[in-house]
Amino acid sequence: MWADLLDGVIFTDIAVIGAGQAGLSAGYHLRRAGLEPGSGFVMLDRSPAPGGAWQYRWPSLTLSTVNRVHDLPGLEFAQVLTDDAPDGVIAAEAVPRYYRTYEEKFDLRVRRPVTVTVVCDREPRFRIEAGETVLSARGVINATGTWEKPFIPSYPGAETFGGQQLHTKNYTRAGDFAGKHVVVVGGGISAVQLLDEISQVTSTTWVTRREPVFRDGDFGQDAGRAAVAMVEDRVRAGLPPGSVVSVTGLLLTDSLRAARDRGTLTRLPMFSSIEPDGVRWTDGSFVRADVILWATGFRSALDHLAPLRLRGHGGGIVMDGRLATRVAADHRVHLLGYGPSASTIGANRGGRAAVTELMETLGLGE
Ligand SMILES: Cc1cc2nc3c(=O)[nH]c(=O)nc-3n(C[C@H](O)[C@H](O)[C@H](O)COP(=O)(O)OP(=O)(O)OC[C@H]3O[C@@H](n4cnc5c(N)ncnc54)[C@H](O)[C@@H]3O)c2cc1C
Repeated sequence: MWADLLDGVIFTDIAVIGAGQAGLSAGYHLRRAGLEPGSGFVMLDRSPAPGGAWQYRWPSLTLSTVNRVHDLPGLEFAQVLTDDAPDGVIAAEAVPRYYRTYEEKFDLRVRRPVTVTVVCDREPRFRIEAGETVLSARGVINATGTWEKPFIPSYPGAETFGGQQLHTKNYTRAGDFAGKHVVVVGGGISAVQLLDEISQVTSTTWVTRREPVFRDGDFGQDAGRAAVAMVEDRVRAGLPPGSVVSVTGLLLTDSLRAARDRGTLTRLPMFSSIEPDGVRWTDGSFVRADVILWATGFRSALDHLAPLRLRGHGGGIVMDGRLATRVAADHRVHLLGYGPSASTIGANRGGRAAVTELMETLGLGE
């Protein structure tokens, strides 16, 4: 199966790390470009099964509550959905089913569970370490997403809190909080969806850093493009990618309208400290809390790339290339699902651009 194996090290042209939407899109385009899976390129994924981060998402997230899962190139999502009423289908079941079918159809031969811990530059090749699996590759497409890096901001007294603190990553169902007062922190889509759900079974307080902006209809292509362009500008300048909600606002669905009518969407500014039994603001006001749910997002899971020293002074990585998937300081490395390609549609487009550019850099496929 492995074309080049020397002293237990697998030699390949391109290593793809991660097999979510971004990694699968890259795999598809690598195949189309004529590289053999398992030898010309090798895909590694830490999860035990296909599905990327979708396999871990909470059960109440359905195809009607996600924004939209865009089709991967070459196979429509709808073809894999056998259900009559796809809207109610649990995303954590349907999307992994789609990805599994996709991997099989295009014979991508993803190796899992394989967790890459370190990528080092051994010019002219990279050494990619993943437990017993060691790869030597000429180029890297990193598509490790964000799920492994939940972000929780630090507030004084957090360690003294006597109740439960959890991040959305560990959320399963609202019923777990019945009878408890829940403080939901965060102004993104996940925050408002979970706030809505939890407020139907118990009392809640909502806090966000900025005043949330709700909009009534789809934000349309222009606002969508503006959001992506803003993130693209940031990563080209070497800044951390940032949030797109500041540009697109939050869509006021029927369910959120009902939540607003119940008074659930009354938002407070961020508290300034956490105490054993609640949270306090600078003006002295206090809310008692049993649970603090941090819906404060994720960061890119890039720790294994640390030896490559890609981060610059701006705190991010300077990106270039057609769709800003290429690391400016080392054109042999592409980051997919980072910055403007951090959406299912962005991952699709980015996959194509990354493969074309990396093949050129490495002089492959001429
Ligand atoms: C709650 C929620 C809802 C969302 N809804 C939408 C939506 O409706 N539409 C949309 O476009 N986007 C949505 N997104 C964003 C969405 O996650 C991305 O668009 C897309 O699915 C991410 O794909 P990805 O391949 O970049 O990452 P992931 O799906 O996270 O895949 C990364 C893969 O890399 C693997 N991996 C990670 N670290 C390593 C490692 N060190 N070694 C090996 N493998 C590793 C993981 O196991 C995983 O399989 C949502 C995000 C969240 C959190």
